[in-house]
Amino acid sequence: MSKGPALELRDIHKTFGDHEVLKGISLEARDGDVISILGSSGSGKSTFLRCINLLENPTRGEILFNGEALNLKPGECDLYASDMKQLTRMRQKIGFVFQSFNLWPHMTILQNVMEGPLHVLKRPKQEVLEYAEYLLNKVGIADKKHMYPNQLSGGQQRVAIARTLAMDPQVLLFDEPTSALDPELVGEVLGVMRGLADEGRTMLIVTHEMNFAREVSSEVVFLHQGLVEEKGTPDKVFGSPDSERCKAFISSVF
Ligand code: ADP
Ligand code: MG
Repeated sequence: MSKGPALELRDIHKTFGDHEVLKGISLEARDGDVISILGSSGSGKSTFLRCINLLENPTRGEILFNGEALNLKPGECDLYASDMKQLTRMRQKIGFVFQSFNLWPHMTILQNVMEGPLHVLKRPKQEVLEYAEYLLNKVGIADKKHMYPNQLSGGQQRVAIARTLAMDPQVLLFDEPTSALDPELVGEVLGVMRGLADEGRTMLIVTHEMNFAREVSSEVVFLHQGLVEEKGTPDKVFGSPDSERCKAFISSVF
């Protein structure tokens, strides 16, 4: 019997005031899937990603992680997690990399990467240190481990990725990880992400890097005004999309 999806989103809605930003989005990610989420600014990409681990509470919908439904109860407008232990457990397995790296400025690079596993997961220090060094090496920044974030000229996003990996997530969410970077740094970060995809990591990536999305994705989803307008293999979505809007979007960003 084949294993079910690692992550399943069913009919996710989100309304801010009287603005319905997500109008019913469903998506499944199986282990090893790399799903790129495209769409113009304001189409709801960030809101959707944030709903997955309840950084934003959906108004309606279901979220399943390894087949286990997240317990949600209706609040005044949105659904809320009714079991904080369950939410915490799931969140630890879903890593989030933001556009802004949010590194702790008062900690060295190494301390930034060690903080979560040491103080949240309560892992033994030596083990955490070794794994942090391994990860910093993997993202190509091991030689800067004793520097503070503001002493790095570039490389913060690679540290942020290492910090996320240090928590051993099963699924990685990326929200435009290269959008805030100087052009010469974009390639390094995409290289790290490509490596993670090659390792078989399960990833959902909001990006405007079309060549990257075409090359690494198992599936591409194009959002328009809070709905899935087109989805399919990269060849399908980039090569012969059914949607005229999707076609126009892709030719505008390439
Ligand atoms: P994208 O990431 O695709 O650019 P977003 O998910 O950030 O889109 O935003 C989708 C829409 O939701 C936008 O119109 C935005 O103004 C609105 N929105 C996002 N977050 C909030 C919020 N916290 N309060 C009110 N409106 C919001
Ligand atoms: Mg966004």
